[in-house]
Amino acid sequence: MSHTNECGVITNLKQMASLCHLHSLNKMSRFLKSVTHFKLRKLWLSTLSSLVGEKNLILMGPPGSGKTSVGKVLGQKLGCPAIDVDDDVLEKTWNMSVSNKLQDVGDEQFLEEEGKALLKFSASGSVISLTGSNPLHPSSMEHTKKNGLVVYLDVHSQDIVERLERMKVDRIVGQRSGISIGDILRKRKHFYKKWYDVRVFCETGDCVEVVADKVINSVKRYQGVHSETFVSTRSQETNKEPSKFFSDVVIEGLASDGGLYVPKNGLPKLTAGEWKRLVKSSYAERAQIILERCIHPADVPAAVLGEILEKAYSDNFSCNKIAPLRHLSGNQYFLELFHGPTGSFKDLALQFMPHIFAYCVPKVCNYLVLVATSGDTGSAVLDGFSQLSDLDKRRIAVFCLYPENGISQVQKSQIIACQGENGLAAGVESDFDFCQKAIKEMFTNPKYTGFLTAEYATSLSTANSINWARLLPQIVYHASGYLDLVDQGVITFGSPVDVCIPTGNFGNIMAAVYAKQMGIPIRKFICASNQNNILTDFIKSGVYDLRGRTLLQSVSPAIDILKSSNLERYLHLLANQDGCLVNKLYSHLGSQGYFQLPENLLLLLQQDFIGDWCSETDCVSAIRAFYGATGYILDTHTAVAKVVADRVQDRTCPVIISCTAHYSKFAPVILQALGIEEIKQNPLTQLHVLNSFHPLPPAHTSLLGMLKDKDNRTSQKCQADASHVMDCVENYLQSLFLKVY
Ligand SMILES: *Cc1c(COP(=O)(O)O)cnc(C)c1O
Repeated sequence: MSHTNECGVITNLKQMASLCHLHSLNKMSRFLKSVTHFKLRKLWLSTLSSLVGEKNLILMGPPGSGKTSVGKVLGQKLGCPAIDVDDDVLEKTWNMSVSNKLQDVGDEQFLEEEGKALLKFSASGSVISLTGSNPLHPSSMEHTKKNGLVVYLDVHSQDIVERLERMKVDRIVGQRSGISIGDILRKRKHFYKKWYDVRVFCETGDCVEVVADKVINSVKRYQGVHSETFVSTRSQETNKEPSKFFSDVVIEGLASDGGLYVPKNGLPKLTAGEWKRLVKSSYAERAQIILERCIHPADVPAAVLGEILEKAYSDNFSCNKIAPLRHLSGNQYFLELFHGPTGSFKDLALQFMPHIFAYCVPKVCNYLVLVATSGDTGSAVLDGFSQLSDLDKRRIAVFCLYPENGISQVQKSQIIACQGENGLAAGVESDFDFCQKAIKEMFTNPKYTGFLTAEYATSLSTANSINWARLLPQIVYHASGYLDLVDQGVITFGSPVDVCIPTGNFGNIMAAVYAKQMGIPIRKFICASNQNNILTDFIKSGVYDLRGRTLLQSVSPAIDILKSSNLERYLHLLANQDGCLVNKLYSHLGSQGYFQLPENLLLLLQQDFIGDWCSETDCVSAIRAFYGATGYILDTHTAVAKVVADRVQDRTCPVIISCTAHYSKFAPVILQALGIEEIKQNPLTQLHVLNSFHPLPPAHTSLLGMLKDKDNRTSQKCQADASHVMDCVENYLQSLFLKVY
């Protein structure tokens, strides 16, 4: 590390360039994290007797969560002392019972004296059961945490209340008349979540033994820093590539062999009991439990993840449920994914992903996130990355390519309006597939990337739906939709549902497949296409065939796609991680323009998937008819899904339809569908006319605001030529990162 001074700041540009070599640098950052933030790991080998080593295992949780009894069992299992702060520290220090002390001195002084006693106390190689109120005293917690790993016993509040009644606990800190135990527990959570390294998510009815085992397993996962790796969908067993971790795949986006990254061991599964605990939880809480399981704490510590989730899913969404589920007709439930700042489901991923990205990338070099958009991704990426801190915005920027004539007027205005200090959009006289290809070419051109690194200390990355950190948060809303069905009493946990999703790049529907892997009982994945129905044909015949197909422009432009990237992830899963097969299929697609799935895999695929498509006229009529029947306006993509669900879903279970955009993004078609003859050019006027229908859902306020605020900025134009695109990128980098030096 001789290149950096103490705060990791590099002063010499050339040195920085040499350090910005993607792989080595990220490895280094992960290594540094593992020796600084996780010093204990080295001492903790995987056998039980050495689990604790010289460090302590610190149990934290609310009163009644079982810290003392679990601590005793763990002490026995691990062959080490079990220390209870109440009995062994406080009562001995004070020479009186804790409840007497509390009665004597009152809450505030109690906390102070409790903290002081803990500050004087030290131990090693022990299991320590904290008191429920220790985490309210920061300095003593810092002191204690220095020498150990904090395990949070997360017990359902309802279970706690019952236990406390049973145990006849008379008084806890913070309790007075008018304040319920529930209120206290809610408040306490804010303190607990600051300190924990490992969460143990307890289920109703878990006995002490079970919780102790869960503690051990969670600690093992925490230590198993090398166990959760990713592979490329095209990786062949024979070549020994270095392991890829979460941070690597977030930074790299696409694997160097052209494949997509997937978790080597699949997605972790939650038990039915764990899912049931989430039925009453908020969206951000659901996200936290789900994503903690999928992101190793060595990459993103749970407390950091929590902070990110609070930023990602709060009042930047116009609905506090974030992704509400609405019942409008028959057995169809509409999962509204358009309440984010830019009005499409892309926000669900992109209000989250940039923060994760900024956390994972090394602090010493610049990043340019390249993104191709068929409309909605562009504004969502630009808006998402504009939410970063000022410091991060100075080193992370976005370059967005879109087909000049392939997106709606509102979408284009939105993209232009969303270009912040760290974002630029360029329109290309070509289609989406060109944009995607141009970006892929820049990535896989080592000369070009090497040049950018050397000249601008900049690495390229992507925020397209092929990036794992984009796909991952999408699992949450599929799970959330299902949990809402349970919460609304439509089904009990465990009964099946179908999902129906308007599909282009296969990201949204792939996330539903992952939600099923994690334990959400989805029966059929209904893949809805428009007239670009290559996926429908593929699901029916097993042949993915680009030959003779040209991209048709439709009223649902976000799914005007012929090369459905994330399908590769599904095929990899289907083929039992056979990277050779996937490799073969995709090189065949490259050279021959098609591939054919082996018969046995096609049969498997058809057990999961139903594919169908919706014509342009059916789409428009569906919007008109549904508005007539319910007063609700579907966007054009949602309408595609609705038409397909009407046609192919067998009505033996509920179907959750993904509403992927707010209708106002496609105002002209919607107005036409509603029978408006004369449609004004100005998008803002269009939205006002739409609003005069007083429809459900109501107008999208942040979208309206965006169009109103839009200044006279225009977006850049780019020729449909890969080398010109590269020049545009370089010009942008010059304006961004060069002037700094
Ligand atoms: C991006 C988009 C889609 C397609 O989603 P995939 O995950 O790429 O299949 C569908 N509808 C809308 C409105 C979109 O913006």
